[in-house]
Amino acid sequence: MLDLPPVILWPLVAFIGLCMGSFLNVVIARLPVMLMLGWRAEAREALELPEEEQPRFNLVTPRSLCPNCEAPIAWHDNIPLLGWFKRRGRCASCQAPISPQYPLVELAGGGLAVAVVVLFGPGWQGLFIFGACLALLAMAVIDFRTQLLPDTLTLPLLWAGLLYQLLFQPLWLTDAVIGAMAGYLSLWVFYWLFKLVTGKEGMGYGDFKLLAALGAWLGWQSLPLVLILSAGVGAIVGILMQVAIPSLRGLPMPFGPFLVMAGLIVLLAGEPLMAAYLGFLL
Ligand SMILES: [Zn+2]
Repeated sequence: MLDLPPVILWPLVAFIGLCMGSFLNVVIARLPVMLMLGWRAEAREALELPEEEQPRFNLVTPRSLCPNCEAPIAWHDNIPLLGWFKRRGRCASCQAPISPQYPLVELAGGGLAVAVVVLFGPGWQGLFIFGACLALLAMAVIDFRTQLLPDTLTLPLLWAGLLYQLLFQPLWLTDAVIGAMAGYLSLWVFYWLFKLVTGKEGMGYGDFKLLAALGAWLGWQSLPLVLILSAGVGAIVGILMQVAIPSLRGLPMPFGPFLVMAGLIVLLAGEPLMAAYLGFLL
C-alpha cells in the first residue's frame, strides 16, 4: 500500500502511531463516562423517572480540559509525548500533575505501529493488525482503570477478527470461528465452576468476549498459549503488586489487561512462539 523510502516511512509510521495513542487516551478517558451516562438514562427510563438534562459528552465534545482546574488544553500541549514532557507532566495553568498514562499510551501506540509494519509490512494486512492492537491497548487500560471491558470494543474486535481471516487467511476461517466460540466457552465454564466452588466471581463477562475476539484473530490453536501466558503473567504481577502495596491484598484484579498482553504477544510474535510451544509439548 505504501511505497516510501525508509527515511520517510519509519518516522511517518512512528508519528501516526503516537497520534493514534493520543486518540486512545481520549477514548480511555471518555468511553467509560459515555457508557455510564447511557446506562443512567436507560435506568431512569426503566424506572419511569423523568428524563434528565445531560451535558453533551462524546469523543469530540467538550474539548480537552485539565481534570483539576478545567483550563482548556492548548493544541501545542496536546502534541503526543512532547506536550507532556514540555510541561514536565504538569498542567500548564494549575501545575497539577498529569498522569504518566498519557505519554505511556502514546509511546505504546508508536511502538506498536513500528512493530506491526516491521512484521506485516505497510499494507492493508498491517493496518488491520494495527487496528486490533489499538483496540486491545484501549481495553487493557480501560479495564485496569474502571474494571469494565465495554461491548463497544470487544464485539467489533471479534467481528473484525473474522473479517481479517476472510480477507487475508481464508483457510484459517474455520479455526477462527471455532476459536471465537471456544474462547467464550472456556472462560464461561471456568467462571461458573469457580463461582460454584468458591461463591465468588473470578472474572466478568467482558473477559469471555475478549477471549472470543482473541480466538477469532488467533485461531483456537493459540488459545491455550494465550491462557497460559495471561494466567502466568497475571499471577506474577498480582503477587508482586500485593507484596509491594499491601493495601491491594484481597482486592479484585482485572484479568483483561493480562489477556490483552498475552493476545498482543501471540498476535505479533505468534509463529515462533507457537513453534516453540508445540516443540515443547511434543
Ligand atoms: Zn489544571
